[in-house]
Amino acid sequence: MSTLLIILVVSVVAFALLETAFGARKRADARHVRTDMAYVASDFVGNLAVHALRPAFPMALAWLLGQAWRGPAAGWHPLAQFALGALVLEWAIWFAHRCWHRYDVLYPFHAVHHAATHVYFLSGLRQHPVQFVSEQVFFALLLTLVGVQPELVGLLAALQMVLAFFTHSNLDVRLRGPLKYVLASPRFHVLHHDRSGRGDYKNLGGGLSLFDWLFGTALDPDEVTPPEALGSGDPSIPPGWRGQLLWPFRALRGAS
Ligand SMILES: [Zn+2]
Repeated sequence: MSTLLIILVVSVVAFALLETAFGARKRADARHVRTDMAYVASDFVGNLAVHALRPAFPMALAWLLGQAWRGPAAGWHPLAQFALGALVLEWAIWFAHRCWHRYDVLYPFHAVHHAATHVYFLSGLRQHPVQFVSEQVFFALLLTLVGVQPELVGLLAALQMVLAFFTHSNLDVRLRGPLKYVLASPRFHVLHHDRSGRGDYKNLGGGLSLFDWLFGTALDPDEVTPPEALGSGDPSIPPGWRGQLLWPFRALRGAS
């Protein structure tokens, strides 16, 4: 856990400094940042819960799969497990993100992420606890199924968080050449937060753009103009954390 905490603190300081020096858009006001900080705290609590559950995932899977499951990568070198795990996790992020947008019963929980009118490195952590915890459990189960050791699952989650800081960051970074088709850049991901809605089903990847290009959900930042405004534009979503916590349940009740 201490390694993860060090990675978190170092990356928070680094991105805060980089955005102060090179920020491309207007900074979020104090109220916006307060909501983000509440999400950082609730994600942290969610993370502790998932971390505590993590050693139980292999046992739960073995039990579910008839006590005999050993993932295909279980005997691999840890580095190879890490590389395969990173790819599997990135596909899972792309797939889950598509589901959060696609299904009416899921979207309200993801809508609070899109309610952010300022997108900067902490926006990646603006996730409703229902989304945060269910995704972390889904990712950890999938990686366990593949055979990735539980210790590496935690490290992969940390890497994914740092990449989310980068892709949400208020830095006008553009990737060129073949790299553009593999890694997601802030310019690539910010199109997904365009208030106009043109990026709603586009640029869904976490740290990679690869799966968006492969599955036809990429919007090329070199071919379109940058967004004029960010956010979902839905006035019914409250600006504060507490209101956003309850909002998806109200929205679902209202829709039924
Ligand atoms: Zn989204």
